Amino acid sequence: VKEHGRNGIAFYRPDMLNAVRARLSTENALRKALEGNEFELYYQAQVDSDGPIVGVEALLRWHRPEHGMVSPGEFIPIAEESGLILPIGDWVLHSACAALARWRSAPGGVCDLSLSVNVSPRQFFQPDFVERVHTYLEEYDLPGDKLELEITEGVLLDDITEARCKMQQLAEYGLRFALDDFGTGYSSLRYLQQLPISTLKIDQSFVSDLNKEGDHSAIVLTIMSVAQHLDLKVVAEGVETPEQAGLLDELGCHVHQGYRYSKPADEATFLALCNTRNAS
Ligand code: C2E
Ligand code: CA
Ligand code: CA
Ligand code: CA
Repeated sequence: VKEHGRNGIAFYRPDMLNAVRARLSTENALRKALEGNEFELYYQAQVDSDGPIVGVEALLRWHRPEHGMVSPGEFIPIAEESGLILPIGDWVLHSACAALARWRSAPGGVCDLSLSVNVSPRQFFQPDFVERVHTYLEEYDLPGDKLELEITEGVLLDDITEARCKMQQLAEYGLRFALDDFGTGYSSLRYLQQLPISTLKIDQSFVSDLNKEGDHSAIVLTIMSVAQHLDLKVVAEGVETPEQAGLLDELGCHVHQGYRYSKPADEATFLALCNTRNAS
């Protein structure tokens, strides 16, 4: 909160000043991060409850000099506000396509998996977003159906007409869409029906409470029934314990993502996991 001095001149308390400084310094460091090659994609498996890996999500990591690894939760909001999310998001998309191409040409045909990439609203709504995606698919000679874009309900609420238009264009290239953090926002069932969405990702807040008192299984059950009616896939996020996995299975949700199966890991580690788990 800003306090006002006698002459109506605003001054800031020292702790606020520190917060502002930290933010500015993060923003400046972010500006240099792409050039400095400080970003890396980590990969987290999506697992069919007691079977193979059926998908994978790319998660951005920033190796910030002198800070170690910084979580995207800390810098994505700053990147969004400063507009840096555009070049960063572009790097993510390009790198994801490059990774898919590597995996496809690897001996042993490691992964024929589709890769899910997080796309923030500002990135999604940039005028040439569809073209960019198409360019990368062409560059690496990838079929569009290997790429799934994870968007949040925020994207839909911002401008549903424009969102639909872009999604339909991308769907023509074969791309699929997942609705991230599902259940935490306000998307109406109409949106789900009108848009080419193929996957709902149950937010981890519902999963983490599954084994506790405040029972979220009614919500999960509702999501499962919506998904069934609209013919959507469901992925449960943040599955940490066997109890949660068991309950999700009982509720009909069989594709899980979470620490119980694997933490997000660098590419070599993820590919090794793929080889062991999908060996048969
Ligand atoms: P998200 O898309 O909801 O991703 C899931 C987050 O949950 C990831 O955090 C993941 O590491 C974490 N997670 C996975 N399994 C578990 C589990 O079993 N327990 C717990 N407690 N957490 C689990 P992460 O990697 O820190 O990413 C945070 C958020 O940052 C993501 O949330 C996503 O919204 C955003 N993000 C990450 N990468 C990108 C990116 O490339 N572009 C954009 N625009 N946003 C990104
Ligand atoms: Ca996600
Ligand atoms: Ca999520
Ligand atoms: Ca989330």
